[in-house]
Amino acid sequence: MIDCLFCKIVRGEIPSGKVYEDELVYAFRDIHPLRPTHILVIPKKHVASLAHVGPEDEPMLGRLLAVAHDIAVENGSTDGFRGIINTGRIGGQEVPHLHLHILGGPGPVGPMVERE
Ligand code: AMP
Ligand code: ZN
Repeated sequence: MIDCLFCKIVRGEIPSGKVYEDELVYAFRDIHPLRPTHILVIPKKHVASLAHVGPEDEPMLGRLLAVAHDIAVENGSTDGFRGIINTGRIGGQEVPHLHLHILGGPGPVGPMVERE
């Protein structure tokens, strides 16, 4: 059994605010929301990051993106959202289980990143 925070959430060993689940992905509210809508979509299978995916993960990756818009709309971001996948040290990834951040409104999310 992998000792991973998000794997424990998928297995129900740690509580989460689940908003969506299918056979490939699981979505729940971020514990420290940065915008009114802040949802994480993760693969049910442990995949550490986008640096660790293989061809066998393509159906999961497709699903991860395909469900994002409906999840955003159902959780209050009815006119768009921003999807972010932080990857590795340079990307600022803190939890080593692949996750798509869905950040949304109702108001605009704001600038993408600070200009250097
Ligand atoms: P990242 O920096 O891209 O790895 O993002 C990790 C995200 O996981 C952060 O936005 C955290 O607030 C969120 N997070 C950490 N622990 C939990 C938890 N137990 N339940 C929900 N979200 C969490
Ligand atoms: Zn994991």
